[in-house]
Amino acid sequence: MNYLDFVTIDVETTGLNINENELIEVGIVKYKQGKLVDEFSKVIKPATRISDYVVNMTGITNQMAFDAQPFDEIADEIVSFIGDSLILGHNVPFDMGMLNSALIKTGKPALINETIDTLELIALLMPTLRSYKLSHLAKMFDISEENIHRAKDDALMTSNLYLKLVDMMRELSPEVANFLYYYVSLISWKLVDVLEGIFGDKLTKEEYPWILLFSKKVDEIHHQKEIPQTENKYKNIDLGDIFSLFKKDGIISQKLKTFEVRTAQIEMIEEAWQTLEDSKHTVIEAGTGIGKTFAYTIPAMYYALKHDDKVVISTKTKNLQEQIIDKDIPFIKKTLGIEFKSEMIKGRNNYVCMNKLAYLFTRIIDDKQYEDMKAILAIMMWLFESDYGDFTEIHNSLVTKFNNLLSSDSYSCLQGKCPFKTICFINRIKKRAKDAQLIVVNHALLFSDIFYSANIIPEYKHLVIDEAHTIEDIATGCFSRGINRKRLHEVAVKIVEQKILASHVLEESTLKVKFAELQIKGRELLNTNIDLFKHVETIFKHKEKENVFYKKSKKKLSVDQLSDEDQHILEKLLSEISEVVSELEHMLTEQSDYLKKNTDKIQFAFYKKLLLEIVYIKNDLEYLKIHKKNYVRWLEKAEYRNAKIFDLKAVPIEVGSSLQKYIFEDKDSVLLTSATLSVKSNFNYFLSRIGYLESNIKVQTHILSSPFDLEKNILMCVPQDSPQYADDKKYLESLAKYLERIIITTEGKALILFTSHKHMNEVYYLLKDALSNYKIPLLIQGKNMSDRNLITAFKQNIDSVLMGTDSFWEGIDVPGEALSHVIIVKLPFEVPTDPIVMARMESVASSGKSSFFEYVVPNAVVKFRQGFGRLIRNKEDRGSVIVLDKRVLSQGYGKRFLDSVIANKKFPKTIKELAELLVTWD
Ligand code: SF4
Repeated sequence: MNYLDFVTIDVETTGLNINENELIEVGIVKYKQGKLVDEFSKVIKPATRISDYVVNMTGITNQMAFDAQPFDEIADEIVSFIGDSLILGHNVPFDMGMLNSALIKTGKPALINETIDTLELIALLMPTLRSYKLSHLAKMFDISEENIHRAKDDALMTSNLYLKLVDMMRELSPEVANFLYYYVSLISWKLVDVLEGIFGDKLTKEEYPWILLFSKKVDEIHHQKEIPQTENKYKNIDLGDIFSLFKKDGIISQKLKTFEVRTAQIEMIEEAWQTLEDSKHTVIEAGTGIGKTFAYTIPAMYYALKHDDKVVISTKTKNLQEQIIDKDIPFIKKTLGIEFKSEMIKGRNNYVCMNKLAYLFTRIIDDKQYEDMKAILAIMMWLFESDYGDFTEIHNSLVTKFNNLLSSDSYSCLQGKCPFKTICFINRIKKRAKDAQLIVVNHALLFSDIFYSANIIPEYKHLVIDEAHTIEDIATGCFSRGINRKRLHEVAVKIVEQKILASHVLEESTLKVKFAELQIKGRELLNTNIDLFKHVETIFKHKEKENVFYKKSKKKLSVDQLSDEDQHILEKLLSEISEVVSELEHMLTEQSDYLKKNTDKIQFAFYKKLLLEIVYIKNDLEYLKIHKKNYVRWLEKAEYRNAKIFDLKAVPIEVGSSLQKYIFEDKDSVLLTSATLSVKSNFNYFLSRIGYLESNIKVQTHILSSPFDLEKNILMCVPQDSPQYADDKKYLESLAKYLERIIITTEGKALILFTSHKHMNEVYYLLKDALSNYKIPLLIQGKNMSDRNLITAFKQNIDSVLMGTDSFWEGIDVPGEALSHVIIVKLPFEVPTDPIVMARMESVASSGKSSFFEYVVPNAVVKFRQGFGRLIRNKEDRGSVIVLDKRVLSQGYGKRFLDSVIANKKFPKTIKELAELLVTWD
């Protein structure tokens, strides 16, 4: 086959169902030696009407189709035009599927020509592209794109794309070409012929040691050019130099149109600089609009340059992490003309583990999984060039297919014993981070790195923590220990199915006996696991009948809440599992020396990984089996896409002392900042939760107010006739009616924050139809759309209403008219039956304090302020916050909520008064 002789086919159809829909146009172009030699293009008359959608997309009208011939009259012409040519297409299975289906319906045989799919080729050669749409690719490759979605023109575009891809393949290094050739041959992909056509005799049929292809990139890191040591020109830099950048006519103002001098930002710069210079600890509550990211990043950068040191910046969200590294730092470097090294390190599960890749690659080859082979080759092609192996670099289809199987995790990482440690991405990132002056991480990584000594972040003494109000919860999560059915099941299956070692190793007779014994133990683990989680499931079934759960999506039951009998059964089953796991550990350890000598490195690494998994499970079981001091244990049931997931978990009740010991005492300076840290201008709650109040470390606190005129721009209303809360249908119906009246008055443009998924869902169904009469779209979190798409839809539909809970109290940033009103349905008190909340309340009470006033209320106030803060995101924003929880007015603690926010506060007696206020307020 000559890879430059081909026909390219494209079809337009009445829909995407190969069996049900019909052809409405076929376009075929013929190429010889890479040159266009002939064309075929015909509109086809379908038996059914063409939908408006398809007419709009293709431009093929029902009249054009009516005037055309039916398929059976042109079928022979098509078949003869194609002949026995190689057929190309962009998603060729669809085009060929439609064509063959039409041929079969007319009593003709299906075409069995060889095919090449340009969609597969592009995914292989350019796995980092965001879109594989033909129109997008045409633009990118500068291919003429007339009449998109007309068959012949699309076929021409596809042909030109193929020729461009052939040119790209000509540029492949001989090593990569040989690598592809060997593995592509295994799965009989037609790409073999293209590679042979291009590279001819240069190809070898030998298996290519792919690991060598990573060495080039790794060598680049090891031989990175050192920045020559010159005299440090920043050694005399001081605060005055930094201030001058932020002056009215300073360099930042010249380069950033939206820049304006903000006193609070200057104050924050000073505090950040002094925190670093004086090696102290500072907490800054920085109101919206201060520009706090610049206010700590620039001092941090100059400090690192001046002292030839390192500063680590930690954020809660990946969004903020990416904003700092992709936008803020490049802007600072360019504007100030400074060279410095910065690195972003994400949680390790964002990166590919080469050990897992090697395992998966071997499995796919052994199991002859052809489709997976194409995808894994695309992953390899990406990784040969990638510096980070970060999943966000590649096309979404590859991420969803593989990230669970390939992502690195500390639990299975073999560290120094890993056969791939020299090409490991985590190790490469560590190496780069070692040379960096600013390192941007997220809280989860920061804590797990410290608590579990993962040592991904290099040694540092200065730390800035943004979004600091979240650190207690994230640190708690990092300390979480637990097991679930899937985890135990997977380990047991590996043992039972003996996927640990290759068969030739198992042939050795004594080993055969040992592994047969292991199999028996593996089965025991499988069975005990089933018994344990069956019992957990039964407990939940009973409790669900008692209706004790606040949340529908994630239900938690503290072990202490269970009956004595249930506790006894649970502990017995956990002890049994623990015993089996200990025996497995012992049996596997016994074979270790023999296997080390008699297996190759990769095999042995798999075996060690399994042993490690067993050890981790054994350790986690210790936290669940018996009540550990300062730990709370619970059972959890979550439902995800109709699957029920059961977990047993244990977390520490307080993390303040650990944060102090492992982080704050260890660092010379720590700057903690967020827009919401204080309660009525007092930081005691925050400081006590993270251990500062009890520690000897001196910490300074500052409140820097938002530069926006909040009193002028926010109307806060607490109507006095809003429905009285009750967990019943009547309340929800009244609430829906009340919300309907507000939303009609505001003409949408509102974010409604709930504290309960159950209530949110029920109100959604009660409100949906009523609002649709007013053409106000109602969007809800967790139904049919990802959070990101939901927020985009909310931004784009100015009059829409968005209902959310949990993360939406703090995870939404929608400047402008679309979010002109925030409606807080209920004060965000934590769920009182949540095992962690219960344990923390008990802990506060045991120290002689009021758990309600010292823990529950301040926690809710911080969350309330987060929700409140969704309204004003920039200088132009203005609108209302409506609180439908009358406890703000009727209860003594309500004042703490009211006093914690700045706004023009009104307390209308009736909804009518509220509506008038909303309409007349200016
Ligand atoms: S060192 Fe750990 S993360 Fe790196 S490749 Fe090996 S197992 Fe994976």
